[in-house]
Amino acid sequence: MIAVVKSPSSVGNSCILRAANGTGIQGPSVSFRSNRSKNTVRRRNGGVVSTCALSTEGEQAEKQFSAFDRVSILSEALPYLQRFRGKTIVIKYGGAAMKDESLKARVVTDLVLLGTVGIRPVLVHGGGPEINIWLSKLGIEPNFKNGLRVTDADTMDVVEMVLGARVNKSLVNLIQQAGGQAVGLCGKDNDTILARQMVEKDIGFVGEVTSVDARLIEGLAAQGYIPVVASVASDGKGQALNVNADTAAGEIAAALRAEKLILMTDVAGVLHDKDDPESIYAELSIRKCNELVEQGIIAGGMIPKVDCCIRCLSQGVAATHIIDGRQPHSLLMELLTDEGVGTMIQG
Ligand code: ADP
Ligand code: MG
Repeated sequence: MIAVVKSPSSVGNSCILRAANGTGIQGPSVSFRSNRSKNTVRRRNGGVVSTCALSTEGEQAEKQFSAFDRVSILSEALPYLQRFRGKTIVIKYGGAAMKDESLKARVVTDLVLLGTVGIRPVLVHGGGPEINIWLSKLGIEPNFKNGLRVTDADTMDVVEMVLGARVNKSLVNLIQQAGGQAVGLCGKDNDTILARQMVEKDIGFVGEVTSVDARLIEGLAAQGYIPVVASVASDGKGQALNVNADTAAGEIAAALRAEKLILMTDVAGVLHDKDDPESIYAELSIRKCNELVEQGIIAGGMIPKVDCCIRCLSQGVAATHIIDGRQPHSLLMELLTDEGVGTMIQG
């Protein structure tokens, strides 16, 4: 079996802070790991795969690859395709990274590609911005306490309708349009995600996940469907609870003993300075993550992400990644190239 090549510079280090002196490439929507030219796509092992003028759209770049470049890239993917065939990859997509419709369609196409080559993607989604749009249409003021949505009964109805129907079915529809087969569900279906209401926080119908019964998701994935799971849980007594989509994805990945958990978000990865995309950590150990949380460098919505990565790793998920969902094809770049993207958290 061909081993997966990791960057020599990363091996043995607990963390790598990408220097802010131009060693990373950052555009509005394109960020490649490189230590040379802005227009060079490099392999993790240092060999140059292909050189092209990268546009912010990414599409122009694709057009500039020759046929030979394209088959070379496909050939580079072979060990990864072999390694991940039949394996489950849980992908969380949501929030700001899901706002752009054309990007959403592109992410979905990548999922369909993965399914077509025998990898089993499971998509878990949130949808905060869409919830806010519908709350405002209905004249309900969004309300947050310590970064968590205060979810009264009316808000919970909207959360369930928006996530379980609108966002969920739009993703299912996009997958179908791209030639894949998808089935949408939420955590309430077959009590797939059970949660406990966090009454002590006094934020209404917000839950913390207590258990995941992954049989339904597993059965669908085994039959070639892409399960699309909305982050609405059941309290086991008929009440819907709003749960963090990262946490839900992490618990699903753990229950499925997934090969990977990939969290797609609206930043390049875990950053040392959250306003400087070039300060990305390419790899982080659990210990370093905990330190960064203590120091306040990892904050807000990034905390549940690293927390669920850490929990997943301790429960047998082989690798966890936080990647930029705004970057075209970031999912394929992480899974199928030597380079990888974003931040990998490992034990
Ligand atoms: P999502 O909708 O994808 O769950 P969130 O807004 O919940 O996104 O979490 C991602 C956000 O976390 C980023 O947009 C950023 O503002 C914030 N954040 C806090 N600390 C960091 C950090 N160290 N690196 C990157 N992002 C961070
Ligand atoms: Mg979030």
